[in-house]
Amino acid sequence: MERADLILTDISYILTMDENLTEYKDADIAIKDKKIVAIGKDIKNRYYGKTIVCKGKIALPGLINTHTHAAMTLLRGYGSDNPLKVWLEEYIWPVEGKFVSYDFVKDGTKIAVYEMLRNGITTFVDMYFYENAVADVINEIGIRGVLSTGILDFPTPGAKTPDEGIEKTISFIKEYSGEFVYPAIGPHAPYTCSPETLKKCMDVAEKYDIIFHIHVSETEFEVETIKEKYGKTPVEHLDSVGVLNDRVLAAHMVHPTEREIEILAEKDVKVSHCPESNLKLASGVAPVPEMLKAGVTVSVGTDGTASNDDLDIIGEVSTAAKLHKGISKDPTVINAKQALLMATREGAKALRMYDKLGSLEAGKIADIILIDASQPHLNPLFDPYTQIVHSSKGSDVDTVLIGGEIKVLNKNVIALSKDEILEIAENWKRKISES
Ligand SMILES: [Zn+2]
Repeated sequence: MERADLILTDISYILTMDENLTEYKDADIAIKDKKIVAIGKDIKNRYYGKTIVCKGKIALPGLINTHTHAAMTLLRGYGSDNPLKVWLEEYIWPVEGKFVSYDFVKDGTKIAVYEMLRNGITTFVDMYFYENAVADVINEIGIRGVLSTGILDFPTPGAKTPDEGIEKTISFIKEYSGEFVYPAIGPHAPYTCSPETLKKCMDVAEKYDIIFHIHVSETEFEVETIKEKYGKTPVEHLDSVGVLNDRVLAAHMVHPTEREIEILAEKDVKVSHCPESNLKLASGVAPVPEMLKAGVTVSVGTDGTASNDDLDIIGEVSTAAKLHKGISKDPTVINAKQALLMATREGAKALRMYDKLGSLEAGKIADIILIDASQPHLNPLFDPYTQIVHSSKGSDVDTVLIGGEIKVLNKNVIALSKDEILEIAENWKRKISES
């Protein structure tokens, strides 16, 4: 017998989400030194140590949210149902201009992290301001974040110029890279960043070997603006600037042409599909089946809660699956396995972290979630993939492990106090309402 730090036994289904989509029934996972050391049948007979019996549970890799603005939980539901321009100019930007600070971002991120953990998200990609506040929260809680400061050609709450934003990113990389914080660079979008800014950002991404996180082709307005200014579509424009490669994570990608999809596949650009935000802001529907057919890596993101309005990746892939079936009038597109892959394996690939995360395999980091399948609304259980995507919600996540550490147990977030979260939310609601 070998010693393990934690053994999950009698798991009803283990969906590894590995290259072969290996599945186990009534099997075990042993964890040691933050990693999975063994997975499969009768592992419990080979290892001893702290044990959790997981009958009636489905194990999956920790879910990966590849695009959000965590601190925007403080603006959840604020100015909803307005046209995009009115929503931004009369609601979101004035509040951000007045309030965004280290404390705003720290408090908003705490609410977001509570919700993400509760919904089984173990890694998220952020773009906002004061990413040092986001980093401080996630280091305290122990959730993984790929963090980028939004860089724009005009003054932001984080920096007066794009060069200052880039300098802050470089300092952030040096100070914060670690077990939970993976810095990225965040040029906001092709219509808010000049070719010079984009090139400088890519130089930093290459030099420090990090992700280049950008919004691309989110709205028709953006597409028309780029066409007018550069005579090209957004992806063609980015290609001509020389900033497309396998480290680019492009959020949204709602309006690509056939030629743009070909370029995305050729350059191995990764896409973060954010269907609920695109629906709520009436931006359109990304051609995900076409991108997948062309071989593009498509992951999934919630976007900020001001335009979603939750941080539930299971809900997001459920929406994605149904949406693309409806739009294509083909019920076979985005099947349940494909939908769950977007939230696991493909998410890890999008972050260039698939060697460590995104599937349950011996040697990988023990970011594992257990879904409680012993509930009436998930039974009878013919197919666990379908049941997770179409019958369950984030709230059915029962247990969350990050690096083998328990963060959620019996549907309770251990790392944060719910009362503290509600108090933070109430305080900010008062301040924003009175402004
Ligand atoms: Zn966004």
